[in-house]
Amino acid sequence: MNKKHNFSAGPSILPQEVFRQAADAVLDFNGSGLSILEVSHRSKDFVAVMEEARALSLDLMGLTGQGYQALFLQGGASMEFLRIPYNFMGMQGKAAYLDTGTWAAAAIKEAKVFGHTEIIASSKESNYNFIPKDYTIPADADYFHCTSNNTIFGTQMKSFPDSPVPMVCDMSSDIFSRQIDFSKFDLIYAGAQKNMGPAGVTLVVVKEDALGETGRKIPSILDYKQHIDKESMYNTPSVFAVYTSLLTLRWLNENGGIGAMEQRNNAKAELLYNEIDRNPLFTGTAATEDRSLMNATFVLNDIAHTENFDKMWKEAGISGLTGHRSVGGYRASMYNAMPIESVQVLVDVMKRLEITG
Ligand code: PMP
Repeated sequence: MNKKHNFSAGPSILPQEVFRQAADAVLDFNGSGLSILEVSHRSKDFVAVMEEARALSLDLMGLTGQGYQALFLQGGASMEFLRIPYNFMGMQGKAAYLDTGTWAAAAIKEAKVFGHTEIIASSKESNYNFIPKDYTIPADADYFHCTSNNTIFGTQMKSFPDSPVPMVCDMSSDIFSRQIDFSKFDLIYAGAQKNMGPAGVTLVVVKEDALGETGRKIPSILDYKQHIDKESMYNTPSVFAVYTSLLTLRWLNENGGIGAMEQRNNAKAELLYNEIDRNPLFTGTAATEDRSLMNATFVLNDIAHTENFDKMWKEAGISGLTGHRSVGGYRASMYNAMPIESVQVLVDVMKRLEITG
């Protein structure tokens, strides 16, 4: 097989051994003579998968025994944009949001449907190329929402505020990629399809005692309490996506956990950003201090090189490097499963472009 170096922003690369194990389970799940695609979600074997996935998520984040619950839900991270105000915003309440990119703005749009939604800082005016740092979280807000990594613009929050109100974070594109004090947050959510698994499932980690405060009537499927009570089986879960996420979480655990991932991710990002800064043909688009370890965004200084560069990276077996239309240029997504060797292939192409023009 001619395996590509996949720099796609998501759905994206997963460990090769996870692909193999998932493929095996499609044919025969746990030696049961049944495919993972045809087993009941209530079967003993799948209930065990769900339990392990929920427990391992909390374990990897260091949150076991601290009043948190992990859920594997559906509707993508986009569904959480509305589940969050449903569960956290009081009837006459207000929410505070940090506007750091397209996905943050999408979350803000949904919150506005529910009530007063204050944007406490925004980098929209500069096409979201930095993370605002000078802001105050109002103490009378019901919660504060931020986005840890802005997938499209290639910026990442390097630290998190000490929030006077419950803090909620969209970690879709950097979950499990670096060590964070996860206990600062009342709710963390992440679509699986970058660092954790295939599309179709969202990890939600929520502090149980933060729920039930709003006085709102919440439809069952949107109510985190219902999902907790039903052990993440309120309705049929995405069986295959949960199973493949578990395989990835096991891989992560066996390969040293979040700390080891962070080291690998730092090394990959350093390799690529050093080349972007060194090579006179390229410029990074994000503010240096806010550069994402996951998604590196950069442009060619002279678009006359575009045809040549595009041909060269494609010939080198690279896939998914084209930037998002709102930034242009290129975006190299280097999630946990990407080996540094693939980043080296890209850096070599950039060096060759400099020589051959
Ligand atoms: N938040 C972030 C940071 C994202 O990168 C994305 C998708 N790329 C989303 C939210 C939306 O996720 P979904 O498509 O799973 O709803």
